[in-house]
Amino acid sequence: MRLMPFLPSIIIVAAIAATLLYWRHWIHEQRVLEKAQAQAQVAKRSVKRDRAAHPAPLPDAKHVESAHYAITTTADAAQTQRVVDAVEALYVAYGRLFSAHVAPAAGGDKLKLTLYAYREQFKANNYSMPWAEAYYLRPICYAYYAKSERNPYHWMIHEATHQLNAEVAGFRKVKWIDEGLATYFGTSRLERGRLIPGTIDPDTYPVWWLTNAGLTGSLDDDIETGRWIPIRAIITGRDAPNINSNVNRYYIQYWSLSHFLFHYENGRYAAAYKRLIAEGGSLENFEKIIGRADKIEYEWYRYLQGKI
Ligand SMILES: [Zn+2]
Repeated sequence: MRLMPFLPSIIIVAAIAATLLYWRHWIHEQRVLEKAQAQAQVAKRSVKRDRAAHPAPLPDAKHVESAHYAITTTADAAQTQRVVDAVEALYVAYGRLFSAHVAPAAGGDKLKLTLYAYREQFKANNYSMPWAEAYYLRPICYAYYAKSERNPYHWMIHEATHQLNAEVAGFRKVKWIDEGLATYFGTSRLERGRLIPGTIDPDTYPVWWLTNAGLTGSLDDDIETGRWIPIRAIITGRDAPNINSNVNRYYIQYWSLSHFLFHYENGRYAAAYKRLIAEGGSLENFEKIIGRADKIEYEWYRYLQGKI
């Protein structure tokens, strides 16, 4: 009976507690819902990206599989095998260089390549820039067997590197690094079945263009006259010359900056560069992880001059 006067307040407290509990539950549910919606958006975007228009496989194309690749090819068996050997060698070399970032093969889907028998066939089916000699349109790499070139597979190695960056390592896409790595591996020599990163094959793009770079020895003059794209413009894309009218210059600089960062003074910056690749190559990160951009630019310019 003595409890009676307290009963209404007990009911009120209980009601408040129940409301709070329900409210907490509701907030939690909302968060779960929002997270699921965000994940669905990301998935939708990547499906959309994967569904970008791709050229139809040619009617006479064959299907070939290797340890890590599934290839649709119109090239002959020997040519296809040369390209397969090259991309498998790339897969090994890439995995070694980025062993901390590349998960051991989980037996998932094979990486997709389309190989055309010759350049005209590729050009007739080119879904990329008109000047492209090869391209990677997620999830497929497209290239031709460059029969008339001494290195007939370098275009495919270049694109297959973009594919590894995106689908295997999952690196955030930063143009100067993505192209830097693709040209770095694409210009490397294949020796007795092994791709040796950083050994320069002169019969590859953009290395064969190197002698036309026309550097004068004065960094300031070369920036002034447009012979050199400043490091800040390369990294940020801001105040940068139009790439369509400076394709080769851009690719020489993408290639040489990555080569420099891996090999300058016996790899002084190599570990830092790998960290930068993993963390994202903004100018801020570059200066934090590698060093002051102006100082590095000067060392890099001298290094490239030495290579020429
Ligand atoms: Zn590329």
